[in-house]
Amino acid sequence: MKHALSVTREQDFSAWYQAVISEADLAEESGVRGCMVIRPWGYGIWERIQALLDARIKATGHENCYFPLFIPLSYFEKEAEHVDGFAKEMAVVTHHRLIQKDGKLVPDPDAKLEEPLVVRPTSETVIGAAFSRWVQSWRDLPVLINQWANVVRWEMRTRMFLRTSEFLWQEGHTAHATVDEAMEETMKMLEVYRSFAEECVGLPVVAGEKPENERFPGAVATYSIEAMMQDGKALQAGTSHFLGTTFSQAQNIKFQNAEGSQELAQTTSWGMSTRMIGGLIMVHGDDDGLRVPPRVAPYQVVVVPMLRDNDEDAAILDYCGELVASLNELDAFREPVRALLDKRPAKAATKRWGWVKKGAPIVIEVGGRDVAGGNVSVIRRDRLYREDGKLDSQIVAKGDFVTGATAMLEDIQASLFADAKGRLDGSIDRSIGTLDALKAYFNASARPGWALVQWARPTGEALEKVVQWLKGEKLTLRNVPLDADAADGACIFTGGQAVERVLVGRSY
Ligand code: AMP
Repeated sequence: MKHALSVTREQDFSAWYQAVISEADLAEESGVRGCMVIRPWGYGIWERIQALLDARIKATGHENCYFPLFIPLSYFEKEAEHVDGFAKEMAVVTHHRLIQKDGKLVPDPDAKLEEPLVVRPTSETVIGAAFSRWVQSWRDLPVLINQWANVVRWEMRTRMFLRTSEFLWQEGHTAHATVDEAMEETMKMLEVYRSFAEECVGLPVVAGEKPENERFPGAVATYSIEAMMQDGKALQAGTSHFLGTTFSQAQNIKFQNAEGSQELAQTTSWGMSTRMIGGLIMVHGDDDGLRVPPRVAPYQVVVVPMLRDNDEDAAILDYCGELVASLNELDAFREPVRALLDKRPAKAATKRWGWVKKGAPIVIEVGGRDVAGGNVSVIRRDRLYREDGKLDSQIVAKGDFVTGATAMLEDIQASLFADAKGRLDGSIDRSIGTLDALKAYFNASARPGWALVQWARPTGEALEKVVQWLKGEKLTLRNVPLDADAADGACIFTGGQAVERVLVGRSY
């Protein structure tokens, strides 16, 4: 069967991923390594992600605010572990003026900043400094804030959306009076990420705790949601950190407790980024391009008029206009339906395939014959082909389509999730008990998934040995799933008594 993309997932998954990004007009290279131009369809998906996640962040009691892009270098120096983690990838501003020298623009040596400024890789330090001003008494707690921003981490190996040097994200930061409250917040936001990823982006995930070696620099505990791409690799799709008093010590976030003595606040932070769009592509895309779950689709129904440059055209456009107007009056997922009339002066077939590649959930075509019969031709992006391999374009009465549109969108959302969920659940091996079997699992099949293995949760050097062994097999520890069964056997790495189960997989 011929498909819309020139390369299939089976042939070359990475080349396929790049093809989807370019054919769906999601993003393009910018000329600055690791930085991308996000085009309207890609940014539209991001805006949907923002709107839906923002509502959940606010519904759990957080408020948005904004902190500066530049962070004084000295803020980082206060927390050794944090700076260690980020030093290798920080962009630093050292001058505030350029001058002409030998025909070239160069930083003016007389305009050197007294203190270099770091382009934020994350904002714990600067937000911690604000918290120390805002928090004096137990009555000032908790502080629950979030910001939507861009951050810069000078990544060496970049890939559009999945890992870029500049990325867009939200970062939540909170301060609490007690460990229990801060842990409750950490887990609450992990659950917000899990439910958001599954319900809105249709990405089934495994929520769990990251092993020590994968913790955020400065965190006491890091939790993640991990999604499985169609090539079986793992993608960390969001993280929630319990920071204990690491940053309150460094930034002096102290409060007077009810008994009148001074205490350090307990803080958390949590982030989700434009990486989500990379996950969406790799989970829902197919050989005809992207498939966007309706809840995050910039347009959910796109109407393509089949114009002939004759006097029937006006009637077709009127008919399509009415259709779009009645769709926009409907609600799906408790929001107005987003329908678009694509009037661009291109051939209908070109536009149809353009929207298929972009992954609009429903594409409607309307020609003269449809108008005469009161019909529309409906293509569902989640089931593009009939069993005989032909494009599945169904002729339906216009009124029936409108009446059923909400249910159809909800059904597409559910079916994309169900497909991905089936794949994830069917691709976690729970039976592996030896390192030989682990190696065999990842070397044997063309597309291994993940292995959930029992382990003794080693720390320090013992953990480092495990990590190095896994690295030799191109494997990583993903997380310890919250809902995994209790351990009841031996640690696959040490042979000692296992205490829990950890996910092992290849990863992005
Ligand atoms: P972190 O602050 O390191 O916990 O990062 C929060 C989230 O941002 C991670 O869980 C990733 O999903 C995402 N993320 C981290 N680094 C990048 C990057 N270079 N490009 C895109 N997303 C990223």
